[in-house]
Amino acid sequence: MASGALAVRDLSVSYGKAVRALRRVSLEVPEGSVTAVLGANGAGKTTLLRAISGTLSFHRGAVEGGEISLGDRTLSGLRPSAVVAAGVVQVPEGRRVFGRLSVEENLKAGALGAPDRSGVAEARGRVLELFPVLAERAKQRAGLLSGGEQQMLAIGRALMARPKVLLLDEPTLGLAPLMAERISETIIEINRQGTAVLLIEQNAALALELAATAHVLEVGEVTLHGDAAELAASDEIRRRYLGVA
Ligand code: ATP
Repeated sequence: MASGALAVRDLSVSYGKAVRALRRVSLEVPEGSVTAVLGANGAGKTTLLRAISGTLSFHRGAVEGGEISLGDRTLSGLRPSAVVAAGVVQVPEGRRVFGRLSVEENLKAGALGAPDRSGVAEARGRVLELFPVLAERAKQRAGLLSGGEQQMLAIGRALMARPKVLLLDEPTLGLAPLMAERISETIIEINRQGTAVLLIEQNAALALELAATAHVLEVGEVTLHGDAAELAASDEIRRRYLGVA
């Protein structure tokens, strides 16, 4: 394993006795890379992120086996706050921001997960540079922002914790094409500045464009993985995920 990589090995997850959501899933997010996980509704993509971020138990899920690590540090079994402190931060599905708090207060809340206070002002500067609209709307209630702006705030809040690895759950879902493109460009820029990204996407075309490597999840199992450009060119991916006959 590459040093500093986020690694998932043989991960199995269940919800109660009836639902086996993941079966022996393995993948790696190398330091500084963008890695994508594609899959249809219900394939287990969100479950994978919950397992990594330590939030499975909030959804009555449990890890049945396997290991999650960041470099030589084991993440399995850590509380969510400890996973954040270790450098892995999730931007939840559905851009959940604190709607009654201002934009500024949301960013401050994100900084609570930062490894130390000294870099908070710098992180804030970087977030506002990535998303100037958040500076313009600093005093506004987050709930009043547009969907795209809320996604920017959700990503910005996660960046305030200065993650080594950012976990993104369908960041462009439900956004207008121009806004989706704007978010995609930002993901590239965040990665260029050194943060690794695990990108969960139903939009396979977008994911394969942004990522270096990709994994396909089908009913809880990784059925294909490899170089994103090679996957984008493969007949099976083109037929099943890119809508090309
Ligand atoms: P989507 O794109 O719809 O979010 P997904 O690929 O993220 O899909 P998951 O949400 O991880 O898929 O769901 C994987 C499986 O686990 C599905 O069969 C789903 O119904 C089930 N599941 C998810 N959350 C729970 C839960 N809290 N309790 C029981 N079953 C769940």
